[in-house]
Amino acid sequence: MSELDLWFDPAKCLINGTWVDPLGGEELPLTDPSTGERIGAIARGGAADIDAAVAAADAALKGPWGKTSAAERGRFLFRLQQLVLEKVDHLARIEAIDVGKPLKQARNDAVALARYLEFYGGAADKLHGETIPYLDGYTVYTLREPHGVTGHIVPWNYPMQIIGRSVGAALATGNACVLKPAEDACLTALAFADLARQAGLPDGVLNVVPGLGGEAGAALSAHPGVHHVSFTGSVATGIQVQMAAARNVVPVTLELGGKSPQLVFEDADLEAALPFLVNAGIQNAGQTCSASSRILVQRSRVAEVTELMAARYGALKVGPALADLDVGPLISARQQGIVSSFLDRGADLEKAAEAELSETPAGGSYVRPTLFGNVAPDHVLARDEIFGPVQVIIPFDDEEEAVAIANGTDYGLVASLWTRDGARQMRLAKQIRSGQVFINNYGAGGGVELPFGGMGKSGHGREKGFEALYGFTTLKTVAALHG
Ligand code: NAD
Repeated sequence: MSELDLWFDPAKCLINGTWVDPLGGEELPLTDPSTGERIGAIARGGAADIDAAVAAADAALKGPWGKTSAAERGRFLFRLQQLVLEKVDHLARIEAIDVGKPLKQARNDAVALARYLEFYGGAADKLHGETIPYLDGYTVYTLREPHGVTGHIVPWNYPMQIIGRSVGAALATGNACVLKPAEDACLTALAFADLARQAGLPDGVLNVVPGLGGEAGAALSAHPGVHHVSFTGSVATGIQVQMAAARNVVPVTLELGGKSPQLVFEDADLEAALPFLVNAGIQNAGQTCSASSRILVQRSRVAEVTELMAARYGALKVGPALADLDVGPLISARQQGIVSSFLDRGADLEKAAEAELSETPAGGSYVRPTLFGNVAPDHVLARDEIFGPVQVIIPFDDEEEAVAIANGTDYGLVASLWTRDGARQMRLAKQIRSGQVFINNYGAGGGVELPFGGMGKSGHGREKGFEALYGFTTLKTVAALHG
């Protein structure tokens, strides 16, 4: 635990402004994925803890928080931003150890968390309703009101960024939150909530209950006292969350997986494209919902792209998070097993490159970053989300085929177009089924200002940007007849 140097007890929940033991009295192991060693314990929160957290959030809404002005909520987020910035290196170290991501990448996440707080702090008092022309003698206007108690279920891959974008927007709009972080990585969620307490957030406005998905997560998504659920995670769990919330008829935002393509046309600037082609696949060891796992290349340039990408793969360094190399371990031995079985299913494919594992502790959950060349679009590795550092190159002949392949999976989260042809850029940006389309760049979720979310099985609803503020509010129409 000294290596983590935590200023709070990770085996507790934060409910109503107080650190408490989970009511079931049980713990879950805290494991360092870089070494496979157990380094502590976290709380195994359950349905009773979720009940207490929802009650605390509900009480907070009926207290001073329910009357706080938008400007004051914005100032609170700015104070919290400052506390996060003061602790950026500490938070980065905690995240690196907990998630296994290289220190630099963890630091980016901590900086992004602060930026979300800055963005939503500034936006809090800029959100307003409208007046609507109606019949003679009427004045009609709309009010944007918070949902009430919002539930936030977060995965392990980018805890700080996902908390920033969902809890940040929910607090800016005046909701009270119950946060269920992932059992594999909950430390920065607890750290964040404690900093929010230090920044002056009233008790009960942000509650954190770590625990298993099937216990604390299921209880939160089914709770009748929750008025909105924001879920980021897998498709299978997202479906369960939406079904549970449907019984209470509450809205759900689902940010699910992806199989995001980059389309490289023969007129592409390959020198500019190359870092994006590889980094978007191996960042956070490929455990990124918006990872670019499919590289579609016009046939005349397939050999060149394959050779250039293979050279970069050859230079990748894989190792423990704190060694701060290019690629860290996967989150867990379980995830390592899932990715390894995908690699086995690619045994029939041409391996264009495989990075070496030279500095990896034996107990860590590492896999070799792997690039497959010349893959058919219907191969399982070209269709299913792998969530590991694995990319496939898929050749295409013309624009029409490129679009058909790009749109040919169940997902639609992010896509990019590499072409100098302006007309093609505009045409394809409309034709690609995806929540975000980048032109001559690729933003794996980057840019807090940019609305983000999926089409198809990548989910629905938008987080990030100003758009998220609409999602975390409900609209009331007031029609006054005054004659
Ligand atoms: P997961 O669905 O297993 O878990 C996500 C969260 O849901 C965790 O907190 C987990 O405890 C909880 N959970 C699990 N079962 C639950 C249940 N029955 N009811 C309620 N909550 C439950 O996903 P994961 O393995 O943690 O994350 C990987 C997946 O998340 C990938 O598919 C990835 O693409 C996706 N993801 C999407 C985005 C995005 O913004 N679109 C971002 C990050 C990750």
